[in-house]
Amino acid sequence: MPSGTVHVVGAGIAGLAAAVRLAERDHHVIVHEQARQAGGRCRSYFDAAVGLMIDNGNHLVLSGNHAVRDFLQTIGSEHALEGPTQAEFPFIDLKSGERWTVRPNEGAFPWWILSRAHRVPGSKARDYLRLLPLLWAGASARVGETIACRGLLYERLWRPFLLAALNIEPAEASAQLAGAVIRETLAKGGEACRPLIATEGLSSAFVEPARRYIEEHGGGVLLDRRLRAIGRESERVTDLDFGEAKITLSPDDAVILAVPARGAEMLIPEIEAPSEFNAIVNAHFRVAPPRGTPLMQGVVNGLVEWLFAFPDRLSVTISGADRLIDTPREGLAADIWAEVAEMTGLGPDMPPWQIVKERRATFSATPDEDSKRPAAATNWVNLVLAGDWTQTGLPATLEGAVRSGNIAADLVIARNSALSAPGIK
Ligand SMILES: Cc1cc2nc3c(=O)[nH]c(=O)nc-3n(C[C@H](O)[C@H](O)[C@H](O)COP(=O)(O)OP(=O)(O)OC[C@H]3O[C@@H](n4cnc5c(N)ncnc54)[C@H](O)[C@@H]3O)c2cc1C
Repeated sequence: MPSGTVHVVGAGIAGLAAAVRLAERDHHVIVHEQARQAGGRCRSYFDAAVGLMIDNGNHLVLSGNHAVRDFLQTIGSEHALEGPTQAEFPFIDLKSGERWTVRPNEGAFPWWILSRAHRVPGSKARDYLRLLPLLWAGASARVGETIACRGLLYERLWRPFLLAALNIEPAEASAQLAGAVIRETLAKGGEACRPLIATEGLSSAFVEPARRYIEEHGGGVLLDRRLRAIGRESERVTDLDFGEAKITLSPDDAVILAVPARGAEMLIPEIEAPSEFNAIVNAHFRVAPPRGTPLMQGVVNGLVEWLFAFPDRLSVTISGADRLIDTPREGLAADIWAEVAEMTGLGPDMPPWQIVKERRATFSATPDEDSKRPAAATNWVNLVLAGDWTQTGLPATLEGAVRSGNIAADLVIARNSALSAPGIK
């Protein structure tokens, strides 16, 4: 086992993924988290208004998100994600009342676009090929400059899909980030885009098993521990100031800073990081979903974008939701419920509800903001960055967060093995 300790600051999914990977490779790791619970933007909590454990936001994983799935396998939680055995995405158009299900076939050759039963009604096979330029877009191109952001197929499939992945109106988004998501999921066929959901909650799928894994491997996750300052010399960071606790780093210790972009910039002003963010609004209603309600369905021509059916509640996701941040919650809940009632056949009486507004859910996935994302390695040999906002090549997603944690851990592991090589200290 390497002699030093790796201090991971931030117990979001990036920090937990880094810590798990380090623990797996026999490193001594301590995670420091400012909140009273781990998980960051991916967490569950008891909500008194609905009287249930709910998630801060519905999180969708696709089966092509390999880093997430490997992470879950390592922590023994791979069965916590549920979804259909084949890729299928039910949709409803609230304006026309039409319903359809998109069913990409397994395998990379997309014969599903040739089949009326599998593709979007009213679309033609050749319409799907118009998405291809996103796969080779340059770093400065927006989606709206690369493909036509209009038409039936765009409104019924590409806009909902890209809005969910990028959390910004797709026309404004980085074409390169959109291309990366498509390359890793849709372009690989149905096997890579089966929707997966943590039906028992985010914390029991992602957070608590990770925490147990770290502890069982001799490490720890310390809550209520906010890093206030990082002492540094020209080449290395020297100490961590948690207020009452101060840690002086030994030459063998390392630090992974896995806090959100704004926090990282405040701690280390030399770091350039994205500075614009987009919101996500979730609405949760305590009601058993009517029999036959799909686990997840997309909505077009509505305020609702996705409806998730958990055993004890219906939950709605609205992405790129900055326009709703100042909307009074009661009216918003009523408007959302009216659509949910229409979709599910439930009556107009609104069940107990909660609205969760995450103002800074993700960095803005525009070319400008993407260009500000730093690499994991820093100017200080023993300080590495992690987080969905660092340069992963993906938008701010769980897959990006886990990958950033893996990259950070691998840098520390490489440094430690160089340090322990004969003659190097
Ligand atoms: C509502 C919502 C819905 C989403 N839906 C999806 C989805 O469907 N699919 C998907 O893939 N992704 C989704 N995401 C994105 C996903 O949640 C994030 O990409 C991921 O959780 C980010 O993890 P992270 O570890 O990089 O950052 P964070 O989760 O922000 O973790 C950073 C941690 O650092 C801690 N911290 C901050 N400052 C300090 C300090 N000074 N000292 C100690 N600790 C500190 C914070 O408390 C936090 O716990 C969604 C996000 C939101 C908000």
